[in-house]
Amino acid sequence: MTNDYGLSLWGDSNFIVDGGKICLNNDFKPAIIDIVKDIRDDGYRGPLLLRFPHLIKKQIVQVYSNFERAKKEFGYSGTFNAVYPLKVNQYPGFVENLVKLGSPYGYGLEAGSKAELLLAMAYNNYDAPITVNGFKDKELINLGFIAAEMGHNITLTIEGLNELKAIISTSKERFAPKPNIGLRIRLHSSGTGVWAKSGGINSKFGLTSTELIEAVNLLKDNGLIEQFTMIHFHIGSQINEIHPLKKALIEAGNIYAELRKMGASNLQAINLGGGLAIEYSQFKEHPSRNYTLKEYANDVVYLLKTIANQKNEIEPNIFIESGRYIAANHAVLVAPVLELFSQEYAEEKLVLKKKNPPLIDELYDLYTTIKPSNAIEYLHDSIAHMESVLTLFDLGYVDLQDRSNSEVLVHLVMKKAISLLGNKQNYAELLKIQEEVQERYLVNFSMFQSLPDFWGLGQNFPVMPLDRLDERPTLSASIWDITCDSDGEISFDANKNPLFLHDIDVEKEEYFLGFFLVGAYQEVLGMKHNLFTHPTEATIYLKDNGKYEIKNILESQSIMDILEDLDYDIHAIRDTLNERIENSNLVDEKQKKHILGELYLFLNDNGYLKTIG
Ligand SMILES: *Cc1c(COP(=O)(O)O)cnc(C)c1O
Repeated sequence: MTNDYGLSLWGDSNFIVDGGKICLNNDFKPAIIDIVKDIRDDGYRGPLLLRFPHLIKKQIVQVYSNFERAKKEFGYSGTFNAVYPLKVNQYPGFVENLVKLGSPYGYGLEAGSKAELLLAMAYNNYDAPITVNGFKDKELINLGFIAAEMGHNITLTIEGLNELKAIISTSKERFAPKPNIGLRIRLHSSGTGVWAKSGGINSKFGLTSTELIEAVNLLKDNGLIEQFTMIHFHIGSQINEIHPLKKALIEAGNIYAELRKMGASNLQAINLGGGLAIEYSQFKEHPSRNYTLKEYANDVVYLLKTIANQKNEIEPNIFIESGRYIAANHAVLVAPVLELFSQEYAEEKLVLKKKNPPLIDELYDLYTTIKPSNAIEYLHDSIAHMESVLTLFDLGYVDLQDRSNSEVLVHLVMKKAISLLGNKQNYAELLKIQEEVQERYLVNFSMFQSLPDFWGLGQNFPVMPLDRLDERPTLSASIWDITCDSDGEISFDANKNPLFLHDIDVEKEEYFLGFFLVGAYQEVLGMKHNLFTHPTEATIYLKDNGKYEIKNILESQSIMDILEDLDYDIHAIRDTLNERIENSNLVDEKQKKHILGELYLFLNDNGYLKTIG
């Protein structure tokens, strides 16, 4: 692997390596590590989530311009429209920028719950569409009517007939204007991947053909057929192959035409949902999608045009609800490395005796005579020797000092092997060693909070160091987070997807890892495992003069706020701590005051580690 960590695959030209650092790819190439240092200079520690609004803008522009281009190319007469599904990232640091940047395009919002709909009603650009998906009760439907009455261009998409019945009864109670109605269709062509339950005949959502016919009749009978404007499907997120989408489009196109022929004369739009995939992979052997946005747009426009023409119907307006594609690349998580585990095994830690057990002498011999030609063999021997020493220890034949010496020596052999091979042209040999030994990097972040999809779905995110990219990394790494959970590890298969990092001394120098494409789903799915909360965030605006501006720094929640969120009575906690200090054996009032002050400082600070990271 070269030192660009697959950037040319997943980076989409957003970043560039310059002077050994990963930088934003604009004229002035600010290095991410310099931005991080600026923020840390103000005293912030722990993991940092950086937001880049210029990347949100880039995705919005790409989506609209690709569809406009495809429409032109195929002479398509329907309009193109997009809404952003709030569930992908509801944080204000993202949404506020998105709404502002999307306003010239009439970019709207999609809501899947009452809370999200209220958010959409407050934030959406007035002329832009709102779509509402997901299960609805009478209240949510009422809220949809209120949005329409307020002047929003809103479409309530029905997941089942009982929702339609609730709309019909609500409609009799409310005022004009009324919301538009969409019907979610259940496709026989199914979705792909882990999200298959979103589409397909056994899908959790949508109306069967029988129900669609019944729905149209209900709408007609109740004078609401004019409100029926859209059909909708969503076959899943991160659709990695284009084929299922094409099948879904053909099916949906035909349903659209059939419903129009049944008298749904205001039905004008097909909403494709989300699912547009992004490339997460750092290895060209394992791409995470087999198509581009350009191909996606072409297929959508071409297929819908073909079907509409065949069936002699008007070409439908196209709606998409892509979330991941819009949000993922705007956020980068930066986390400081706290420790390399093998660094506990420095040569100074070796305390050899005058007379050592023979195995220890042999281990020492391996360490002093290892050379490139025998490195792998000696490594194997040393591991075997250490295992024997551990067995002898269990049997009581060697002491703790011997055991410690064997552990130190094996690590020294390992390190020497790596440096012998890393400095020569024996990279293939080095890889073989790395299959057996991985350096564990302890990193100041919580995987459960910041990369929950890695834990839940095995989703890999691109990861790389922010600097030293002009030095060859020599250590095959696995990443440990600071939760006490043994699941809090990101391991890398040394054959399939190794991560090589640098051999650094964290006592002397700082080393930061960047996790990329974390802007979709990760923030709100993040869990407070061990009470680690959303990291400190900052928004980075690129200015015309080439400088960047760091704004909206929001520090990670204080311990007091975390406890309050869990409904602890924070005053009672403070009183109890106070009381326990009062009732302790301390006699000096000044000491008591001092300790109490220290506790208050902790309560007002966040819980991430500070020492180095
Ligand atoms: C989740 C969801 C989306 C967004 O999907 P992405 O894969 O993030 O583009 C769009 N529409 C509906 C109905 C959804 O449930």
